[in-house]
Amino acid sequence: MTFERGKSYDEVQEYFGPAHEALRRRVRAFVEKEIRPFVEDWEKEGEFPRELYGKAGRAGILGVGYPEAWGGSGGDLFSKIVCVEELMRCGSAGVVAGLGSLDIAIPPLLSAGTEEQKARFVTPVLRGERIAALGITEPGAGSHVAGISTTAVREAGCFRLNGGKVYITSGCRADQLTCAVRTGGEGYKGISLLLVESGTPGYSVSRKFEKLGWHASDTAEIFFDGSMVPAENLIGMEGQGFYLIMENFQSERLQLAVMANMTATLALEESLRFLRQGLLPSRSGSEPQWVRGRLADMATLAEASREFVYRVAARMDAGINQVKEISMAKNFASQVSEKVTSWALDIHGQRAVAGGHLLERLFRDSRILSIGGGTQEIMKEVIWKYL
Ligand SMILES: Cc1cc2nc3c(=O)[nH]c(=O)nc-3n(C[C@H](O)[C@H](O)[C@H](O)COP(=O)(O)OP(=O)(O)OC[C@H]3O[C@@H](n4cnc5c(N)ncnc54)[C@H](O)[C@@H]3O)c2cc1C
Repeated sequence: MTFERGKSYDEVQEYFGPAHEALRRRVRAFVEKEIRPFVEDWEKEGEFPRELYGKAGRAGILGVGYPEAWGGSGGDLFSKIVCVEELMRCGSAGVVAGLGSLDIAIPPLLSAGTEEQKARFVTPVLRGERIAALGITEPGAGSHVAGISTTAVREAGCFRLNGGKVYITSGCRADQLTCAVRTGGEGYKGISLLLVESGTPGYSVSRKFEKLGWHASDTAEIFFDGSMVPAENLIGMEGQGFYLIMENFQSERLQLAVMANMTATLALEESLRFLRQGLLPSRSGSEPQWVRGRLADMATLAEASREFVYRVAARMDAGINQVKEISMAKNFASQVSEKVTSWALDIHGQRAVAGGHLLERLFRDSRILSIGGGTQEIMKEVIWKYL
């Protein structure tokens, strides 16, 4: 009997080709020039300058992975991964989350929006001229998306909105919100998505959250007090919102997994640099065995997680259902990143706990990754359903 494999060893497909590598160099150069030198200040200020959206838009970075017809730069899922990986090299997940809020706000518009909606609300965002955010979470509805209570009642060719959203990334200065509202009865079937512009009367940002991590991204509480939103801003059909939200979660979870893997990679690289610079006090003249072992474990976990995420992404790109696998990948990657950043702190000791140290930031930023886009427990519920 002969065992046939899809490919011979030599033909094993790499995930990234020359076009991805060229993009990687371009994004890396952008990050080195436009982001990395300023990250410390932006972390302290709790936001980065609005002009960064414009710069990243004009450089074609915001548009990576989106159709050229709507102002995107084209490219597959691995182009998007390249972008997220290289942006993460700035050392601030907050900058990446803030610049990337469009990646959770725009896909439902592309998936279910009208041509007019795409022209008005997608193209200017990909150019960096408008800021887009996603508004799902409410004080009483985080994991339980089907429990949202913001109401949208039809009235004179509009929807009248009452309610509010919390923990909205880029929400303090977003021009538009892809917003989950209740247009029908209780439960998931009563939910719709509406495009709400921040200039709408009755729309207000009531609070900017201070957070454990992601300091450079602004995070808002938003209120709607009788805001009248034109009915033509309905995204897809009435009652379709929950399905669009669930579809949207898949790419968000992939991006969070990539962010987690890069967090682990940066913590590992920082630890290796620390040792190579001879900064670890050692009586014997070489690193202690426990440090060598830790680094080996850190490298193993980071690589295993990265490979798993790439494999899941390749299948997603091929249109294969990966709901279970991406939930596994997000959970695994965020656990790895929490472990690896914590071990990196052990190796550095007192030298990395001061505010402003890269590792201190990676450790804090890492903790958000397992909460946003679906918590560890919610991911486990999804996985369990598929077992
Ligand atoms: C920095 C940051 C940025 C964010 N950005 C956005 C954004 O841009 N837009 C947006 O809409 N939201 C955003 N969120 C909100 C995020 O999506 C929610 O925090 C997340 O969905 C979890 O909801 P929750 O925090 O209300 O926790 P809860 O749902 O209240 O959960 C609390 C705990 O209970 C557990 N739990 C809840 N339900 C179950 C269950 N059924 N089974 C088992 N365990 C359960 C959870 O795992 C968790 O441990 C952001 C959050 C943060 C921290």
